[in-house]
Amino acid sequence: MARRPIIAGNWKMHNNKAQAKELIDGIMYGVSQLDASKMPEVVVAPTYTALWQVYDLIKNEPKIALSAQNVNPNPSGAYTGEVSLDMLADFNVKFVIIGHSERRQMFGETDEFINQKAVAILEKGLIPIICCGETLEQREAGVTDAHLEEQITKALKGISADDVKKSVIAYEPIWAIGTGKSCDAVEANRTIGEIRKVVAKLYSADVADAIRILYGGSVKPSTIVEQMAQPEIDGGLIGGASLQADSFVDLIKGAM
Ligand code: PEP
Repeated sequence: MARRPIIAGNWKMHNNKAQAKELIDGIMYGVSQLDASKMPEVVVAPTYTALWQVYDLIKNEPKIALSAQNVNPNPSGAYTGEVSLDMLADFNVKFVIIGHSERRQMFGETDEFINQKAVAILEKGLIPIICCGETLEQREAGVTDAHLEEQITKALKGISADDVKKSVIAYEPIWAIGTGKSCDAVEANRTIGEIRKVVAKLYSADVADAIRILYGGSVKPSTIVEQMAQPEIDGGLIGGASLQADSFVDLIKGAM
């Protein structure tokens, strides 16, 4: 089955109002020059404070979809500083990034909490981008595949096959995030193939064939073509190189 590639930009904690406008304007101009029938699904994940503005600017641009960088799985209540799915749905948010290593490492998010988020996101009809990835120590110790199997198995607990088919996984080796040192494309392809085997074991070959699995970790315009040529890699989750319109549009072109 042909899986439509995704190029997703994770803006992290960057861009005030003016910067967010400049970036999305540049991306919109860039994608306006591209043939929609050949394009990957393009996703931008601004900060919460820029969501309204970006939503408003892209609302007539079907070539760009909106993602949130996080969500709280509870419907509402006394969760100071948190944002609910209902609030995200107001802004036509289609995707939500969960399980990013920065949230796991800096904010102590567990596999169980990430699973709660995945369940809630799918119940609301949005799509989780479930991040997983190993540390350098785990890779050097040869436990990468076992670690990813555990993260994926826990993240998908209780989720139906149909919902898994709609979901997105992002394989992001932690040692490659923001370091400029991308994982070798052939090795990223092998690892993503292993993640797909985990999904096949938990569900079926059909589900594994449908789920889109991205690579993330220092993806750049100079690496994207080789990465996209790998059969298991369905696109990229991109941090640094998504912060300039030119390089983000080059990444989109690299996935066409
Ligand atoms: C990320 O944070 O998801 C990421 C992959 O960042 P970068 O592209 O900067 O490595």
